[in-house]
Amino acid sequence: MINFFKNRFQLTTTGAKGLCKSSITAFFYYFSFVPPLIIVLSFTSIILSGEITNAGIFIKWLIISAFIMYILTNIDYKIKYNETYKEAANLRIDIANNLKELPLSYFSKHDISDLAQTIMADVSAIEHALAHAVGSCIGFSMYFLLVTIMMLISDFKLGLCVISPIILSIIILFLTKKRQIRIRLIHYDKLRELSEDFQSAIELTQEIRSYGLKDKIKKEIKENLIESESLQWRSEIEQVIPLSLAAYIAQVSLGITIFFGIKLFITGETTLLYLIGFTIAAAKMSGGIASLYEYLGEIFYLDARIKRIGEIRNTKVQKGKEIKLDNFDIELKNVEFGYNEESKVIDGVSFKAKQNEVTALVGPSGCGKTTILRLISRLYDYDKGLLTIGGIDIKDIDTESLFDNISIVFQNVDLFNTTILENIRIGDINATDEEVKKAAQLAGCDDIIKKLPDGYDTMIGENGMRLSGGERQRISIARAFLKNADIIILDEIAASIDVENERKIQESLNRLIKDKTVIIISHRLKSIENADQIVVLNNGKVDAVGNNKELIEKSDIYRMMVLKSNLTEEFKY
Ligand code: ADP
Repeated sequence: MINFFKNRFQLTTTGAKGLCKSSITAFFYYFSFVPPLIIVLSFTSIILSGEITNAGIFIKWLIISAFIMYILTNIDYKIKYNETYKEAANLRIDIANNLKELPLSYFSKHDISDLAQTIMADVSAIEHALAHAVGSCIGFSMYFLLVTIMMLISDFKLGLCVISPIILSIIILFLTKKRQIRIRLIHYDKLRELSEDFQSAIELTQEIRSYGLKDKIKKEIKENLIESESLQWRSEIEQVIPLSLAAYIAQVSLGITIFFGIKLFITGETTLLYLIGFTIAAAKMSGGIASLYEYLGEIFYLDARIKRIGEIRNTKVQKGKEIKLDNFDIELKNVEFGYNEESKVIDGVSFKAKQNEVTALVGPSGCGKTTILRLISRLYDYDKGLLTIGGIDIKDIDTESLFDNISIVFQNVDLFNTTILENIRIGDINATDEEVKKAAQLAGCDDIIKKLPDGYDTMIGENGMRLSGGERQRISIARAFLKNADIIILDEIAASIDVENERKIQESLNRLIKDKTVIIISHRLKSIENADQIVVLNNGKVDAVGNNKELIEKSDIYRMMVLKSNLTEEFKY
């Protein structure tokens, strides 16, 4: 049962147990109305037979059952809401833990606004449904089954009068269920699309304004909004019609029971007591089921959301053990990788980047240089071949202990919306202020810091909005100094550094990479001329490996690149 709930509603084990509990308490809550009814009927029967001796005993039982009803209502309420709120928190933490372990490839295939919606809106929808709908529906179903059996046993014909319309209404509802879910799904996807449109319009504000795309984007969003609105109407109508029809048919139960009940009473096939009892039961059951149908609508609507949560929770996470590396040679043997199944971006690449050496990756744009860096840092997992660090398959090393050994300076640096000091401290969260400042000096950040109103304590805005690309990169180099990892990965770091600072940073970098395994990508071949080893890549394959001198002799691609690079250096506007 617990496993069924876990899979059906994508709950954690605690959540599934909570749902079991709340279904059982809901059952008792519904069933608590039965004993008082039986007591009242028995009392009436005794009064009618004129055998009344002691009315006090009935009153006592009535008070006891009213008290039990009160307690059960309270327990039902508390369990339902307590378990639900706990589960909403657990589920979000569970999803966040999963996201933490997912390879970066997951994020390149999924929209970030979509993920945020799943964590916030979808979990909220499940939370609401768990609190109001799911437990109540399960509890009511159990109660319905038990009361149906009791009624059929005590008076088959009257029992049939009560339950036939209700069963007919359930059939109608389930026949239309697929259609209701389908239209809800379409509407749900449209809403996701809309939220992605809004997010990308906000992110691309600069481009939209500078290319005069305001009216075009506005028109597209407006069309999508109108379409979403009409889908909302359709889904409401397609859900409201079968739901209200089913609720109406369920209510007929009362009329049928009274009509046939009187007939059966007249023909002597039932007693007045049964007629009253079944009439009350029909009113209670049909009323209860009609109000539950609103909940069912909510549960049908959950399907799409449950699917999304399931997708995140069931995606394969990056596994591996905490391993202490003592050798930092990196070796690729026939490594293959593709961002998707259709195309291979890295196609049988082999080379070895040794400790204490600088290995440079060069090649035309799009040949796979950055991708190789991503594989080495396990931001993505390679598909085939073997990639080892210190002789250990990188897939066996858990990402956290791997990252302890790697410093990456990316081409585009993202910063956190906090102070400069804290942004550099990310390199080593235990570093003292003095150590952070020393790393900043080594990376040539002094002039950036001097310029800022509060120096190291200046808030730098979301994603370092107040800093230029080159300045952000220097902050990132300072982080690498602070981290002092054994593997250093530099991705096109010269690209956005201004000439004035270049020499300063080069000197610092030379200090940073001493005795480390260094892998570097650079367009400017001059900066990697002295690298111990240069790997020339072309179309995801290795074209040649050697030092600058050897490659000029043996690689046509490298020769061409050197030529082009020299021309670029000489180019004047
Ligand atoms: P380089 O660094 O040599 O310019 P990349 O490794 O960035 O090349 O890219 C290699 C190929 O992989 C290119 O065709 C690029 O379009 C593709 N690519 C890069 N990143 C992604 C991604 N996140 N998703 C899908 N394709 C990608």
